[in-house]
Amino acid sequence: EAYVSLPSQKSPVSVSLSASVEKLATSVSGRPKWTPETWKNYNPNQMPVYEDQDELKAATDELGGYSPLVFAGEVRSLQENLAKASQGHGFLLMGGDCAESFGEFNVDHVRDTFRVILQMSLIMTFGSAMPIIKVGRMAGQFAKPRSEPTETIDGETLPSYRGDIINSEAFTGDARKNNPQNMIKAYHQSTQTLNILRAFSTGGYADISRLHAWNLDFVDKTEEASRFRQLTTKVDESLRFMKAIGVDTTLPAFTTTEFYTAHECLLLPYEQALTRQDSTTGRWYDCSAHMLWVGERTRQQDGAHFEFVRGVGNPLGVKVSDKCTPDQLLEICDQMNPNNIPGRLTIIVRMGAEKLRKNLPGLIRAVQREGKSVLWISDPVHGNTFKTENGFKTRSFDAIREELRAFFDVHDEMGSHPGGMHLEMTGEDVTECVGGLQALDENDLNKRYHTSCDPRLNGVQALQLAFLVAERMRQ
Ligand code: PEP
Ligand code: MN
Repeated sequence: EAYVSLPSQKSPVSVSLSASVEKLATSVSGRPKWTPETWKNYNPNQMPVYEDQDELKAATDELGGYSPLVFAGEVRSLQENLAKASQGHGFLLMGGDCAESFGEFNVDHVRDTFRVILQMSLIMTFGSAMPIIKVGRMAGQFAKPRSEPTETIDGETLPSYRGDIINSEAFTGDARKNNPQNMIKAYHQSTQTLNILRAFSTGGYADISRLHAWNLDFVDKTEEASRFRQLTTKVDESLRFMKAIGVDTTLPAFTTTEFYTAHECLLLPYEQALTRQDSTTGRWYDCSAHMLWVGERTRQQDGAHFEFVRGVGNPLGVKVSDKCTPDQLLEICDQMNPNNIPGRLTIIVRMGAEKLRKNLPGLIRAVQREGKSVLWISDPVHGNTFKTENGFKTRSFDAIREELRAFFDVHDEMGSHPGGMHLEMTGEDVTECVGGLQALDENDLNKRYHTSCDPRLNGVQALQLAFLVAERMRQ
């Protein structure tokens, strides 16, 4: 029953949520008071350089006048859910594209990812009897950190592609130029994505009595689909039983769902332009998404990204690989969550199974020893990327499953709560990751390889993982 046991941490200092930001802004030792632009005084790792500062200013001024994409009240309700999860009561499911793109955007694409996340969440709720907090890597997941600043093809060297919010993928000088207008385009696409997500969450689509309609056509004939259908039959029976004893199944808990958005907080001019002060509490929120995370490549203490996120009231994630030492992790906790507020900080572990078994116990031990409140979640995909002989960047389903298994094993041993998972996935029938029930191999990859960045699990592979996690949480 490891998943229900509370972490053996000292209980976190209780601080009311609304009292936090003034303190956040002043309590990081040695730092001047935070404002939405103090990040400019720190190292701009991975930040694009714009040639024309007037164009940049015109774009960010325009964004500054646009309406927020998310609202402070929604952000606070996510934070409350995460706080409960960090205390052992809940599981965070984050998923979506590695990079959203202008080319791949359409209603069906958004709906399909939303639909798989709903299905996974149903599977895992049934398995764990725990609330599943649903967060899409959607409506803002455009900017990408790159390992190399340039790319060379056939002797020609150009700047790397950094995501559609910054430049374009085509290998020409024009396309690879950083264009501030792309931020405006990304904002407008995000408003459409959010509009679709809000309609699907509350407009009847997510009604539990309609869960048969959530099926994905291409999944239909697979074993996962029949397992899902068996589950829907059980849910139907439970609903009929509840109705019979007088439970009102037209209440919002049955007919709507809460769905949140998140992305990597990378392109700070965009994030700053959408950062607004909440009129009721005076706190600053980055209204580009409910939750933001700082990536493995930009989590330096002297970096602009840490400076920016420390001042906003959104729940924050930090990606950590095996390169993160226990001391660094404690520094991250002090800097991002100086008042130790539950739900404020999620540690997203991405190291590969073997390194995770070796390194995660030490990180958990440090956090337990110092009584820090964090939510631990697993990103089992980013530590498992490799290139095939025929040139595709891919991941193996087995390696992903092994990392998740290792994550659960280590938490069992340490008495801490395995609090969620973070996946790159899509509802579509892509062939980007090898393995899984469809037994995709390297020669299948060229069939439907559509990602504009890292390889994603397809709908069947994502459901398969959900069943595995559900079984694990039931133990
Ligand atoms: C990502 O989530 O797409 C990403 C770049 O992750 P990481 O920072 O963990 O490499
Ligand atoms: Mn990625």
